[in-house]
Amino acid sequence: MSDYDYDLFVIGAGSGGVRASRVAAAHGAKVAVAEEYRVGGTCVIRGCVPKKLLVYGAHFAEDIKDARQFGWNVPDCAFDWPRLRDNVLREVDRIEGLYGETLGNQKVEIIRERAVVTGPHSVKLASGKEITAKTLLIATGGWPVVPDVPGAEHGITSNEVFHLEALPKRIVIAGGGYIANEFAGIFHQFGSHVTLVNRSETILRGYDEQIRDRLLQISMTKGIQFRFNAPFEKIEKQEDGSLLVHLGDNGPPIECDAVLFATGRRPNLDGLGLETAQVELTEKGAIKVDDENRTSCASIYAVGDVTDRIQLTPVAIREGQAFADTVFGNKPTKVDYSCVPSAVFSHPPLAGVGMIEAEARNKLGSIKVYSSDFRPMKNVLAGRNERALYKMICDAATDRVVGVHMIGPDAAEILQVAAVAVKAGLTKAQFDATVALHPTMAEELVLMK
Ligand code: NDP
Repeated sequence: MSDYDYDLFVIGAGSGGVRASRVAAAHGAKVAVAEEYRVGGTCVIRGCVPKKLLVYGAHFAEDIKDARQFGWNVPDCAFDWPRLRDNVLREVDRIEGLYGETLGNQKVEIIRERAVVTGPHSVKLASGKEITAKTLLIATGGWPVVPDVPGAEHGITSNEVFHLEALPKRIVIAGGGYIANEFAGIFHQFGSHVTLVNRSETILRGYDEQIRDRLLQISMTKGIQFRFNAPFEKIEKQEDGSLLVHLGDNGPPIECDAVLFATGRRPNLDGLGLETAQVELTEKGAIKVDDENRTSCASIYAVGDVTDRIQLTPVAIREGQAFADTVFGNKPTKVDYSCVPSAVFSHPPLAGVGMIEAEARNKLGSIKVYSSDFRPMKNVLAGRNERALYKMICDAATDRVVGVHMIGPDAAEILQVAAVAVKAGLTKAQFDATVALHPTMAEELVLMK
């Protein structure tokens, strides 16, 4: 008989926590997971899943327009936000249910309340109950950062954006990262007037320069407005309910109906009691873990965004799996963080894997860059003047492909397959030896000059 109530107690039923819970249970552990909000976490409830559904919904605006060039007599169409919103939220409910079922099938106990750490082997529930476990796993994810400016309370974050009562006619989006660019595309397609405001001089810092320049140029051509080097000074609510965003010396204030903060996400640790078990944090305030996801307290582990390694769902899932296999499956596993692909579901989307040009030049010295800058066939007939750009970065010494980056229709779908090749260490010659699949956009991958 164990001295503890559970072998494993997980705090947070998001992507990492759910995977760790069910795999540990499958390995024979007695597992409970506490969740204060909804099973599924950011990805399912207020992130990847509902966002991607909105991206699909938004894309119809262009598809309907383009359809006319393809011979369809499409009448003027009106967009119904509440209908899409409610359908998306229903789908989120369905997936949340499936997650719960999966945990139940593995006999993982779901405790639907907040839990905080009270020591190396103990937690306390919001109801006051104390629980002990041999191992604790912290998987509480991230939380949107809201800049500390007067009037910030008038803005919303990605937590609220899926529940808007009505579509804002004018929206200001703060930030220039993933969420900002994805929602700039979404709201623009739905017909809102969008202004993206970033504190620095760029969007998507860290992405390939030419690729992000292409997104900027296409977004501006579509009518999305940008203000750079423009930190928020304050937000004022006006008598008619509209908002006035002041940007200091950076031009006149912007009047809008909604402000969306997309200014990064920080580890969700407030009030979690980690100090009671001497769990150390990094300088940036994330839980410090070793390469087996163990914290400075031997009985406490952490996975996912709360450790701020790579804030992506598939990474959190791998960390949860590796933790469970290592600790409960007698199968020590470390996550390989090399060549993690990522995508921004903007309009059009962009995606990349491996090193960008500047990074490769720094690290490898001598590199070769191949590219294909083309107007997709569908865009030509539609009269849509949007060019796609694919880039391939190779190590000049070995011919090995060390990075692929692209922007254009379906970039993320295409990039996933390229990521397999980059991860496998294939050379440019091996790409070239592959016969093109014609006519596709993806064939550019094996035709790059
Ligand atoms: P990002 O880190 O992508 O971008 C944050 C942006 O906000 C940057 O442009 C940054 O400016 C700016 N910023 C940061 N802090 C402040 C501040 N205090 N005041 C004003 N501006 C600030 O964050 P997101 O919120 O867009 O997304 C969070 C994370 O979630 C992403 O990093 C990503 O890992 C994940 N995510 C992934 C998605 C996907 O895979 N498709 C989609 C959505 C989110 P600067 O130019 O100075 O860097």
